[in-house]
Amino acid sequence: MNKIYFDNAATTKIDSVVIDQMQKVMIENYGNPNSTHSHGRSSRTLIEKARKTIANEFNVSASEIYFTSCGTESDNMVLISAVRDLDVKTIVTSKIEHKAVLNVVDFLKETESIEIVYVDILENGLIDYDHLENILENCKRKSLVSLMHINNEIGSILDLEKVGNLCKKFNSLFHSDTVQSIGKYKFNLSDLNIDFIVGSAHKFHGPKGIGFVYINKKLNLNPFIIGGNQERGMRAGTESVHNIVGMQTAFENSYSNLDANNKHILNLKLNFIKSIKKSIPGIKFNGSCDDNINSSFSILNVCLPVNEDRSILLEFNLDIKGISCSRGSACQSGTNQGSHVLNSILSIDDLKKPSLRFSFSKYNKHEEIIEVVSALKEFVNSN
Ligand code: PLP
Repeated sequence: MNKIYFDNAATTKIDSVVIDQMQKVMIENYGNPNSTHSHGRSSRTLIEKARKTIANEFNVSASEIYFTSCGTESDNMVLISAVRDLDVKTIVTSKIEHKAVLNVVDFLKETESIEIVYVDILENGLIDYDHLENILENCKRKSLVSLMHINNEIGSILDLEKVGNLCKKFNSLFHSDTVQSIGKYKFNLSDLNIDFIVGSAHKFHGPKGIGFVYINKKLNLNPFIIGGNQERGMRAGTESVHNIVGMQTAFENSYSNLDANNKHILNLKLNFIKSIKKSIPGIKFNGSCDDNINSSFSILNVCLPVNEDRSILLEFNLDIKGISCSRGSACQSGTNQGSHVLNSILSIDDLKKPSLRFSFSKYNKHEEIIEVVSALKEFVNSN
């Protein structure tokens, strides 16, 4: 059976060139990058080269990039440090952020008595910019806006320039969770009014367990992990050299083939939309995921015209056919809580129907779309 992987927003297949580079580093560069001898120095050189590669792509200085273990850690670092070190008293965010932001914000509310204000989300999954402006205009205390660039469930895109300008106008800090967009979108951070972005290598064909955070150099933060002087004292702990080089390789690979990859992935998505519309009358697209201006080219979240009681069978049905995608409906298996994103934008009726997220990568093929749409059609018609 040919397996089909359409869950690239959860994680991606690692590039073979990344594995080769990592293996080479593990064999040849085992020195501790903090040692001053030649073994240590060669590891240090690799780390600083990786840092520079990322910084150059974003048009910032290398000293503004810190390596972490993942996107979640980076988000934690930004939010917790902003409250602790930058006197932030109000966090402005939305109910459709990733849990790496939402749960940290809840934690800060409980432990630091921070005020949390949620920006309204429109039916199409975009944030209400007028509401954001209104919140910031009336905010009397030091604030941080934390809004994600690409939503990981419905693909809606935040206008970073617009939000950055609003933050500048009202003197707010701006953090954007860019985990879903690094390696897919270009960023010129010198032109954007943005203080923090974050990345995670496993979302762009790199290894798991490595990420980074960009922190604008005008901000002075205290160490987040205390110990040695690694990452200029901000995050102690011996650096994972092979993971850092793996991330750099995946990052370079993504940006040097960006246009061709993005075009291929967008065509896959357009093909999926066209063919599912034809095959399943009554299909709905959650948020604005069928609109290419407001939604990422790699994520599609559909609501199927199927009864609630058959939802669980759908997952099983796709799984036995070797099709991996993500369930994003009201009642997620095991938890019964459903997707907090879909809960924020769908009607009660649509929440009862099964929704699925398909997310594509450069490794997917058009033939796979034909197979998946036909499996979905068969399931819907067997009602
Ligand atoms: N933020 C977003 C938008 C994500 O999609 C994810 C992962 O799904 C994360 C943060 C967490 O990243 P990591 O898996 O590297 O901790």
